Amino acid sequence: MAEERICRETIRYLGYREHRPDPQMEKLIAWGIHETEQKSVPAFIVQEFTMELGEKHRVRIGDEAFISQNLSRNLQDCEKVLLLAATLGAQVDRLIQKYSRLDMAKAVILQAAAAAILEEYCDEKNRELQQKAEEQGWYFRPRFSPGYGDFPIDFQKTLLAMLSAQKRIGVTTTESGMLVPVKSVTAVIGMSRRDTKCRLSGCETCGKRDCIYRRSTSVPLENAKEE
Ligand code: SF4
Repeated sequence: MAEERICRETIRYLGYREHRPDPQMEKLIAWGIHETEQKSVPAFIVQEFTMELGEKHRVRIGDEAFISQNLSRNLQDCEKVLLLAATLGAQVDRLIQKYSRLDMAKAVILQAAAAAILEEYCDEKNRELQQKAEEQGWYFRPRFSPGYGDFPIDFQKTLLAMLSAQKRIGVTTTESGMLVPVKSVTAVIGMSRRDTKCRLSGCETCGKRDCIYRRSTSVPLENAKEE
């Protein structure tokens, strides 16, 4: 199952929609997934923090505060959050850099495969955490990463510091806020007592068009209808 999802997502990240890649490309994609998995050293950290939503879309997580309408929406009726960081490790970056010099087409495939493998790894961990949380009556909102919508990308550096991510899994950022290793991700997961049956893959794939917690919508919060 996981391998099927990784293959499907790699094909999607390569821009294929209704068309299937030809057999030669399918072989290259299989090679890219295999090579990336060989070099991957997945690592994941997560920690629970208090949260509070204030006036004018102010969000407080732990001792840190910022403004985000999209994240405020997603965290409505949540009482706490998980902060997470995950990475495939530096070897995957080196593999992609190597092929960026040798064969750009292969480098593009490796990029897509790495994105799909990292996503699958985060989903797997997300499912495990969700199951444990639901046993205690907590329900998750979809992962929400800094830089998404109006959630400030700068919070990425703060999030990594709050998790001591550099010490624990070797993830840090450049001066400009880019994650290092590149194939890494950070996110916030809202925890609520309300079971909204959120989709792991996020609001973009969820049919609840007028859900008040939907993260990507231009409808002003105050106009959104209750489900
Ligand atoms: S739109 Fe769907 S996935 Fe997004 S918050 Fe609402 S129920 Fe959850």
